[in-house]
Amino acid sequence: MEIEIQLTDRPIAETILPPGQPGVVGAWLEFRGVVRGEENGRTIRALEYEAYPEMAKREIRRLLQEISARHPCRVAKVIHRVGVIPVGETAIYVGVASPHRGEAIALLAKFMDRLKQDVPIWKRRAIADGARLCAEHQPQRPSNVQAAAAGSATTAALRSLDEARAEIHSHSRPLPAVRASLAEALGCVLRETIYAPEDLPTVDRSTRDGYAIRADDASETFSVVDTIHAADWKPRQLKSGEAVRVATGTALPCGGLRVVMQEHVERDGDKLLVVRRENSTNVRLRGEEVRQGQPLVSAGTKLNAGALAILATVGNVNPLVSPRLRILHFTTGNEIVTPDQTPKPGQIRDSNSILIRGLLQNFPCDVEQGHLPENFEAAMLEIAARKPGIENADVLLVSGGASVGEKDFTRALLERLSFEIVFSQINLRPGRPLIFGVNSPRVAFGLPGNPLSHFVCFHFAVATALAGLTGGEPPEFLRGQLAEKLEDQPCSRETLWPARLDWNDATPRLRPLAWASSGDITCLATANALVRVPANTGPLEQFAGVDFLPVTAMLGGG
Ligand code: AMP
Ligand code: MG
Repeated sequence: MEIEIQLTDRPIAETILPPGQPGVVGAWLEFRGVVRGEENGRTIRALEYEAYPEMAKREIRRLLQEISARHPCRVAKVIHRVGVIPVGETAIYVGVASPHRGEAIALLAKFMDRLKQDVPIWKRRAIADGARLCAEHQPQRPSNVQAAAAGSATTAALRSLDEARAEIHSHSRPLPAVRASLAEALGCVLRETIYAPEDLPTVDRSTRDGYAIRADDASETFSVVDTIHAADWKPRQLKSGEAVRVATGTALPCGGLRVVMQEHVERDGDKLLVVRRENSTNVRLRGEEVRQGQPLVSAGTKLNAGALAILATVGNVNPLVSPRLRILHFTTGNEIVTPDQTPKPGQIRDSNSILIRGLLQNFPCDVEQGHLPENFEAAMLEIAARKPGIENADVLLVSGGASVGEKDFTRALLERLSFEIVFSQINLRPGRPLIFGVNSPRVAFGLPGNPLSHFVCFHFAVATALAGLTGGEPPEFLRGQLAEKLEDQPCSRETLWPARLDWNDATPRLRPLAWASSGDITCLATANALVRVPANTGPLEQFAGVDFLPVTAMLGGG
């Protein structure tokens, strides 16, 4: 597919000509995403978009290539505007050309779905109605890790939730795929699309215990000329008036047959009287489920038991999958004692180790855990003793010490281990002091020590990295409705509020759970979703529409 990508700080042209491939292209589909005059209930004048230009282009290209493997098209042209974009102007233009409209529509829809999560272009801020557009039509200063680290003010380093997610995703690239047995592949991300090597079912099969006769045979009496068990295959052409005894699953002896259920016949030796015929032919036709060459399981699918059963059916016993991740997790803090100990005043039992271990159950990985003393040099000695484990780890997680207290050394420790710090704070409640570092292809997180912050940061941040490293889909926000009022004071930070999600309704309903501090732990047993409360919102009424992040699997949150 021919791909053209532009990032521009200038208005996108009103008219863009379709590609000149006369006779080949039957569909030229254009989409424009236009800046709306409202954001979170507020009237706005403009949105400001920011990007890592090179990385964004690379990601857009990768995404288009990946999607076009499933929906082949001839040309894709993407123009994304960055910088300040006034209301009513185009923020993104996508043009797709293909011989037939179906593939172009499918590619465009999938691309737009994935763009927001996969590509490091994000809404930096909404510019309120009445504000001056001082940066209007000015070239956007490209942001990157260094620029952010050397940012002029703390706001430069204080990432929004969306910025943080985009950065984590863009830095967490899929690790090389490996071949695994079906048993080992459970929970792994499939890295190749599996196509049907033959029609499914491979032959016409009976769905009943009964008698196969020709579909066009109107006779009332038949002679039974053979018996075929499920494991047999005996090809023969049936004549009018002939019947063959078959079992459920039997491969039928020829095409053009129907099966009469044994309950609807009377048999006397080889003679058969058909008392009643069902409307159904009781035959699963060759290829009626899947035709040879059709995709069965797509690359990027997390292999669950059902997907593995499909692979087993087609004899694909060594699929190409993401490797098991190697994860190293350290707790920090001299106040921490193991759960079996009785804490002295000032001490606290370690709940984060088992929390992290439990949350990681949803990802195929090998976890090694340890504790670091609250002294930088002593911690470095401990780290030196575990050098091979650290060098082999795909992901390093450090609980606690992520803030700016005297003894909070996680950032320094990650830097000493050659991780480049991408950000060290996000404008989020709970979970503000979250550190994210990269030493490509490895990633590291300094997670704020409080249990609720841990839970929140794991689900939106660590899970995003694990999805990226395995080539899977990052966790995505969905739309739901509050089952009860969410009692909150306006907060300058965006909030991920623990909630109980109930799917028993056409609309996902979310019951906000009570919590007062990021040190709270009791809501964790029930929380299976995080509701997104925009900054400065205050209380949200019952039935208010909200974005929420489901806590994906059973072990993650009920
Ligand atoms: P920190 O992020 O190190 O400032 O820790 C913030 C809070 O989380 C402190 O009250 C710590 O005692 C608590 N904390 C840190 N690590 C753990 C842990 N492993 N289990 C439970 N609480 C912890
Ligand atoms: Mg600490």
